[in-house]
Amino acid sequence: MNRVLDFLVNVFGFSDNFRMALNKDYEVEISDDSEATASKEFPVFETSKLLISKKKMFIKVKKEVGKSGSIDQARDVYKSVSNPNIITNTSMINAYGLNGMGVEAINLYREIPIDERNEVSQICVLNACSHSGLLDEAWNIYNEINIKTEKIITIMVDCLSRLFVFDEAQNLIDSYEKSHRPSVVMYITMLSGLRNHRNIDLSEKVYHRMKSIFPTEKDSLVSGAILLANIYSSLGEHQQGRNFRSNQLRELKQKVKIGLSWTEVNDELVQFKAHDRSHPRSSEIYAELDRFAAELIAHGYKFDSSWITRPIREYETIQSVLCGHSEKLAIAYNFIQRPIPSIIQVTKNLRICGDCHAATKLIAKIRQRDIIVRDAHRIHHFHSNGKCSCQDHF
Ligand SMILES: [Zn+2]
Ligand SMILES: [Zn+2]
Repeated sequence: MNRVLDFLVNVFGFSDNFRMALNKDYEVEISDDSEATASKEFPVFETSKLLISKKKMFIKVKKEVGKSGSIDQARDVYKSVSNPNIITNTSMINAYGLNGMGVEAINLYREIPIDERNEVSQICVLNACSHSGLLDEAWNIYNEINIKTEKIITIMVDCLSRLFVFDEAQNLIDSYEKSHRPSVVMYITMLSGLRNHRNIDLSEKVYHRMKSIFPTEKDSLVSGAILLANIYSSLGEHQQGRNFRSNQLRELKQKVKIGLSWTEVNDELVQFKAHDRSHPRSSEIYAELDRFAAELIAHGYKFDSSWITRPIREYETIQSVLCGHSEKLAIAYNFIQRPIPSIIQVTKNLRICGDCHAATKLIAKIRQRDIIVRDAHRIHHFHSNGKCSCQDHF
């Protein structure tokens, strides 16, 4: 019982797909006849409670779980579980997937008896295929699944979009819509892939279709408009990107959510917004950011202005705008600690931008430090070899 519990605690940091599968709340039920009365708080940002009753253990973790771990640790604990069940297996598949170990994820999935495989394990293995670029394997697994739920189809659309197979993604959406109400998540998923592909024609089509099908889904339309504006900017059409973004936001009467990053240092949770100077150690943080910039440039790094979606003010430079992003501030704050934390962990409420992603990969390498950034979409584990676990699919 306790080992299962330890395992879950260790892997919850990886469990973005549980959240997706379980409707934004973690809710896992494990039958167990052993008596257990302990209850324990998880380190979380808002509310979390672990309730253990005599026969059943319910784990219900609300909002973000602020815990991350390493794949080796997860695997060690997994191996120590004498009779892995569907939950432990699925957690491990998910951990493999998020760490770019698609083949290991598929092998473990294949070991689960067919009648025990459930929607969560199917989502996790398809996600693992997606993040490791294993398209044929994903199709094989997808075709074997008898009950294809909206979530299963969405994850397949995600897989196809990440691998730039947009016609097949569109076909899946079209056939889904023949017998179901359209799903806005599928469209946003496809748009994310289109942004990475910088495919402007198809992006415009998808966005306009979204607007006509989902006129009241304001949050999703704002996300779509920002993705499309990013594509214009990434093609050098900065003015068009800015105009498009502001026109759409005005039309949708929405303000963009402010990007925030959090990091926990010495048991204290610190929050940063972009260009934040409210922290008492701000001058040290900005001095560290200057050192980051100098080291990055010395290693051949070029700041990527395509991720700037607002006009640059007179006193700013491309570098100063990008270095002021909240996740870079949170990372710099860790590096001014003594000792520097052995693993740096940051949580961001929006998706990490492409410049922060590329810069963090190089910082992890130059400074020889693992950096874990949990963004609105997934966990990025930047390793000291300069690679990210998402393999640049984000
Ligand atoms: Zn950024
Ligand atoms: Zn990444």
